[in-house]
Amino acid sequence: MFEKILIANRGEIALRIHRACKEMGIATVAVHSEADANAMHVRLADESVCIGPAQAAQSYLKIPNIIAAAEITGAQAIHPGYGFLSENAKFAEIVEAHDLVFIGPTPDHIRLMGDKIAAKKAVAEAGIPTVPGSDGGVETFEDAKKVASTMDFPVLIKAASGGGGRGMKVAQTPDQLKEAFDTARAEAMAAFGDDAVYIEKYLGKPRHIEIQIIADEHGNVAHLGERDCSLQRRHQKVLEEAPSPALNKEQRMEIGEITRQAVAKLGYRGAGTVEYLYEDGKFYFIEMNTRLQVEHPVTEAITNIDLVREQIRIAAGMPLSFKQEDVQFNGWSIECRINAEDPRTFAPSPGEVTDFHAPGGLGVRLDSGLYAGYRIPPYYDSLIGKLIVRGATREEALMRLRRALGEMVINGVKTTGPLFEELLHEPDFISGDYNIRWLENWLSETEPKS
Ligand code: ADP
Repeated sequence: MFEKILIANRGEIALRIHRACKEMGIATVAVHSEADANAMHVRLADESVCIGPAQAAQSYLKIPNIIAAAEITGAQAIHPGYGFLSENAKFAEIVEAHDLVFIGPTPDHIRLMGDKIAAKKAVAEAGIPTVPGSDGGVETFEDAKKVASTMDFPVLIKAASGGGGRGMKVAQTPDQLKEAFDTARAEAMAAFGDDAVYIEKYLGKPRHIEIQIIADEHGNVAHLGERDCSLQRRHQKVLEEAPSPALNKEQRMEIGEITRQAVAKLGYRGAGTVEYLYEDGKFYFIEMNTRLQVEHPVTEAITNIDLVREQIRIAAGMPLSFKQEDVQFNGWSIECRINAEDPRTFAPSPGEVTDFHAPGGLGVRLDSGLYAGYRIPPYYDSLIGKLIVRGATREEALMRLRRALGEMVINGVKTTGPLFEELLHEPDFISGDYNIRWLENWLSETEPKS
């Protein structure tokens, strides 16, 4: 096992990885930008190295600085967390070229899944159902027209290198196709430096349901059930739960098993998430994320499996610590993403946290690097914490969420906490009857209570 791991990330996820390392008796190295010198992930780590100025491109994304920090401190492995360099195949290759271990999948799998056109083809061949659409990329508008003429509108133009919902445009009718095609390509070029796009049927009211996979290099692959991430705004997840209110046990085990077998066929190693849209009883693959997800704690809560510990064990060449037959699903878990944002306009709200009180008690987990006096820097993602509750049933989880939100104090900045308190009064949310469009409709139709 490793003696020292460098955590190439910041915020709550750096802390999450640090905690798994400490429990395993592994020393940690934090890296940080000048803006994060006082961050909790730096304060708790055994060692820390400043890798550059505030701008992520000059620090958290600066590969030579991260490699140098690992070499100077004698770390043997690097955990990339999520975001930043976590899905950068070149980074994984450079880490390996320096005789360090990348805690994640092989560079080839990262590269394959990073190209959504190639990924869709590969998983379809491995037996996973996909969204109907173009067979590969569409290079010209003439091609797009040809493909779309064989489909029912609306259709969706998507970027091959897409992420964070960018480079995605809907054409409601054939005469909107040209504009959707051109804007999606331009947006993809600007965001990813790659204007390759493809076409998919646009699903009207699906749920977003994803399957957690974990695989070692000895051929053991397990699925840890699903997460329902249908509560979204601008194609970005806001709240996640496990299990999904829409699936029964048979459906869960069926899609879990299809996914598990496909991922085994691909020879995948590490933690990964296969994302689907689910509509009218059918699953449609949209993408595979080759990293730990923000919402992984809801899976941990109902399976009692530490995903980061498994990732580290796998990277050290060890087998999974359990078999598929050992995985049991118990209870219900919900995660709220607490962002430093206005709860209605979602405008960022960085600044000093003047008071802070973390909720606690049975079934409550708060993953956050906040403390009173901490100054939230304006340079990074606005996620400042994740409130995760667990109950024996969904009703109990909701009851606990209401109680925990009421206890949580974060003063000095605006947070999305009040949004969740409002949602807990909504019958559709309480009954679990929502799809990926529900939150945006609700936001446009209701006035904030306070
Ligand atoms: P990204 O990598 O940008 O996050 P995804 O392919 O994961 O893109 O899709 C993100 C979200 O966009 C989904 O959760 C869903 O809300 C919406 N979406 C993606 N594909 C479709 C589709 N074919 N029909 C309807 N909505 C879609």
